[in-house]
Amino acid sequence: MVSSRGQVRAYDHGGGVRSLRVPIPDNPLGFTLVYVVDTDRGPVLVDTGWDDPGAWDVLVDGLAACGAGGVGEVYGVVITHHHPDHHGLSGKVREASGAWVAMHAADASIVRRTRETRPEHWYTYMANKLTAAGAPEEHVAPLRTARRALPGFAPALPDREIVPGELLDLPGRRLRAIWTPGHTPGHVCLHLEEEHPGGLPGHGRLFSGDHVLPEITPHIGLYEDPDDATVTDPLGDYLDSLERVGRLAPAEVLPAHQHPFTDAPARVRDLLTHHEDRLTGLLALLSTPLTPWQLAERMEWNRPWAQIPYGSRNIAVSEAEAHLRRLVKLGRAEAVTGSEPVTYVAA
Ligand SMILES: [Zn+2]
Ligand SMILES: [Zn+2]
Repeated sequence: MVSSRGQVRAYDHGGGVRSLRVPIPDNPLGFTLVYVVDTDRGPVLVDTGWDDPGAWDVLVDGLAACGAGGVGEVYGVVITHHHPDHHGLSGKVREASGAWVAMHAADASIVRRTRETRPEHWYTYMANKLTAAGAPEEHVAPLRTARRALPGFAPALPDREIVPGELLDLPGRRLRAIWTPGHTPGHVCLHLEEEHPGGLPGHGRLFSGDHVLPEITPHIGLYEDPDDATVTDPLGDYLDSLERVGRLAPAEVLPAHQHPFTDAPARVRDLLTHHEDRLTGLLALLSTPLTPWQLAERMEWNRPWAQIPYGSRNIAVSEAEAHLRRLVKLGRAEAVTGSEPVTYVAA
């Protein structure tokens, strides 16, 4: 266990907001920015970080170092979404402090399902889903025999619900929940409706989680649910959520990775253009009928398909399917009748 004692630094964003860089082990993102918001009842955290001993040390030491009174004083935890780099340490923080943990109902139900679903059930679902998407048998076979529990299989159950549009329980502050589904069905951004401490123009500050990041586009896949066959449109949700954030026009965005930035509307426009370009590129590929797997093989990724590792291929197929859903919903592509596995073609 690597202790980081003595090197922890809290960054002061002014106006009673600080951030801690809580490391994510073996991940190119490097760290989660955990925000510490002062309130009249003690600090409230926005996200907590990955559940790892080194990360826990950084969080505990950082809370002590930033004068917020230490982890035992934490009053509440607001979770932007259920992913383990955001919600991983929530249970430990609650144990150490008695803090409440709040999450949107849609992500809370994923947490509940994750705790209750046996790994075999999940692997069977994934195997069937990938077969239906046209994955080759050698890719699917390992899933049919897998039994190992996935890491992060017992995330903490939140004890409060984040209700979209409502102010959260931060005594002396104004923090409003903005529902921004897409990256996950219950992703929220948190709008600090207070003047910017540095006098920057715009409307307050926005904790954006993974919804809007300065230099990378978040993964948009399907909302995988073994027990719910509802045909969702996560990419459509995401694009709507982006426009909602653009209209807020916050003075500064405080994201969960990378670094804070200004001019949210410009970043939103970039992301909308990126996805529109991607949809147009996919339509060109769909001049011949393709399964989601074949589409993923032909899409542009950060490296050639042959070099994409096993687990990332599943994520890539999920992303291809999210784009197909969007195109079908827009009437720009359609499923080929009678194809098995089902193929899609430009309409
Ligand atoms: Zn995430
Ligand atoms: Zn993240």
